[in-house]
Amino acid sequence: MKELEERILKDGDVLGGEVLKVDNFLNHQIDPKLMQSMGAEFAKHYADKGITRIVTIESSGIAPAVFAGLALGVPVVFARKQKSLTLKDDLYSTDVYSFTKKSTSTIVISKKFLEKTDRILLIDDFLANGQAAKGLIKLCNEAQATVVGIGIVIEKSFQIGRQLLEEENYDVYSLARIRAFEDGQVKFVEEQ
Ligand code: 5GP
Repeated sequence: MKELEERILKDGDVLGGEVLKVDNFLNHQIDPKLMQSMGAEFAKHYADKGITRIVTIESSGIAPAVFAGLALGVPVVFARKQKSLTLKDDLYSTDVYSFTKKSTSTIVISKKFLEKTDRILLIDDFLANGQAAKGLIKLCNEAQATVVGIGIVIEKSFQIGRQLLEEENYDVYSLARIRAFEDGQVKFVEEQ
């Protein structure tokens, strides 16, 4: 998505450890107009998939997910991150290792917000090693819901996440795909 790529080039900061900081429009301050365009783009890509619910993870997935939900006319559920969990019967939960924080957290979704008839679109801000997406898939699987697509705002294609998800036949759609960071510069995957 051209508008997003241009914004990344303008406002993104490449940090050490292969991390891109985009807190000017996505991870701290949020640009609603850009979120709206991204939501419309996700909705267009997944329009004929019969999506009934969007699932994301707090906090940075929420903004793009809400705009996709608005465009598709479906509710949005975000998995909450919890530090420690005394086992609760009314929650689906799993552990996710965070690439950026180098720590593991437990993510949970209330059982009342996932149903086995659901056709789910997962949305997240970044795809790196695929651990957040895999955690969300696990929660959906526990509910016997069907994950029909995975929409990503920024994919770092040099990390293994896309490959892991495609090996399991998921339809991964990323609005920006980064091939590499070269001398602190973002290089995108050339679209065919
Ligand atoms: P994964 O689980 O695919 O390894 O990483 C995805 C999660 O880690 C995303 O939810 C995002 O919060 C965070 N993340 C991974 N790489 C980056 C990055 O380069 N920049 C930012 N801001 N977050 C990242």
